[in-house]
Amino acid sequence: MINIIEEVKDAGSIGISGHVRPDGDCVGSCLGLYLYLKNVYPEKKIDIYLEHPGHSFAGIPALDDVKTTAPVGKVYDIFILLDTVPNRLGDFEELFNSAKKTINIDHHVSNKDGSGDVNYIVPGASSTGELIYNLTEKQFMDRDIATLLYMAVAHDTGVFRFSNTTADTMRCAADLIGYGFDFSDLLDKTFFEKTYLQNKVQGHVVIDSKLYFDGKLIVGVATGEFMNKYGATTDDFDGVVNQLLLTQGVLSAVFIYEKKPGVLKFSMRSKTDDVNVSSVSVSMGGGGHVRAAGFDYNGDLTEGMNKVIELIGKQINV
Ligand code: 5GP
Ligand code: MN
Repeated sequence: MINIIEEVKDAGSIGISGHVRPDGDCVGSCLGLYLYLKNVYPEKKIDIYLEHPGHSFAGIPALDDVKTTAPVGKVYDIFILLDTVPNRLGDFEELFNSAKKTINIDHHVSNKDGSGDVNYIVPGASSTGELIYNLTEKQFMDRDIATLLYMAVAHDTGVFRFSNTTADTMRCAADLIGYGFDFSDLLDKTFFEKTYLQNKVQGHVVIDSKLYFDGKLIVGVATGEFMNKYGATTDDFDGVVNQLLLTQGVLSAVFIYEKKPGVLKFSMRSKTDDVNVSSVSVSMGGGGHVRAAGFDYNGDLTEGMNKVIELIGKQINV
């Protein structure tokens, strides 16, 4: 465990960021840490950078403070990277590289050695949000921070459902709920609700999905053509891979969509530690967890898909 208050004590300027296409854990843990450090050190210059958070996050505390473009030539005394590795920082990687000191807090097994000068990496932890909670001292906490960290933990555990949910996770959530925010409304808006378009494209992906290996693997695809037809963007497919995984008998789910022309995103899930999608992802140049991982693929859809089906098949058939 690190002492975050001590680690940033001498810094005049602090930058915080997380991965591209920030999910609930990334947004919640970055904003939660941002507000926490502002409470501890009101005099310090603290900035938070994220690629534009999706519309489902509208209304969460401090969202308006998020900067979505990187300043040129800015050098931070400390740059804190949450929930990922530097090469998934997108436009903000340079801020990490140029900072005088870096801190990395993460729970991804693919980043187990850490990427900062100072690291707090716990691969077994439910979420980066839970790790941030572990670092906090009660006297600097408030309801907004609790809201953000609760969102982070809830999202990365599939609302306390995934196997990464531990007794410590529930104690963390119980403590956070004690700050008195509307957790039901928070999760409806940020996690469960879908737009009409999102529901519709999810339905189409599920209809066209295919089963392999006696129904143990399911694969769904959204080609660029399909996305154009419905006017869907990459944001409209959140949760689709989890829905595929809920198919009875399925041990692993793969969802592939076109991130931008020529670049495919592979999103993988597994219901069991016997099918390690992180190892598949790492061998394809990406990363993630044993049961949730992903990577970008610059190549032919059928070729990439067949490769992944083969790699997962080897694990399913052992
Ligand atoms: P998702 O499928 O929800 O996009 O991602 C699942 C998990 O895999 C997340 O924990 C995410 O951080 C990780 N992941 C997804 N895509 C990539 C990628 O391109 N590179 C790396 N290193 N990790 C990824
Ligand atoms: Mn996470």
